[in-house]
Amino acid sequence: MADDCIFCAIAAGDLPAEIVAEDEHTISFMDINPWTRGHALVIPRRHSRNLYEVDEQDLGHTSAAAKRLAMQMRDRLGCDGVNVLNACEQAAWQTVWHFHLHVIPRYDGDPLGLPTRPEPAERETLTTVAEKLRG
Ligand code: 5GP
Ligand code: ZN
Repeated sequence: MADDCIFCAIAAGDLPAEIVAEDEHTISFMDINPWTRGHALVIPRRHSRNLYEVDEQDLGHTSAAAKRLAMQMRDRLGCDGVNVLNACEQAAWQTVWHFHLHVIPRYDGDPLGLPTRPEPAERETLTTVAEKLRG
């Protein structure tokens, strides 16, 4: 447990949260500022800063819990789809420094939209960046 980490405090039961599921490795609870009705967060109980640092096993447990939650959102909330989102570092919108997955139910016609409209890249650009990634 990390000092000053609100999600560690939630996992420890020291900070109230609307918990919807938990198991040995993970805990899922409602986001206090939901993007849509039912927006929840899934965290590993063990602290890590973000995707760069999370243990691969914890990542697996958290992903599996996110899938279970998505099915419950479909079956119990009647959502039409689900987004799973992770923010890693400030440049990617991370604001809480304990790894978490957002599980966001989506409803036909809900007001969420992509923050930008992707456009096709030049083939050469894709090749160049792919070469860099392959190393
Ligand atoms: P991030 O921006 O790091 O991807 O997401 C952090 C999320 O945690 C935000 O959506 C925010 O609303 C949520 N959040 C921040 N503080 C609390 C809290 O004390 N309790 C709960 N349940 N959610 C929180
Ligand atoms: Zn933590």
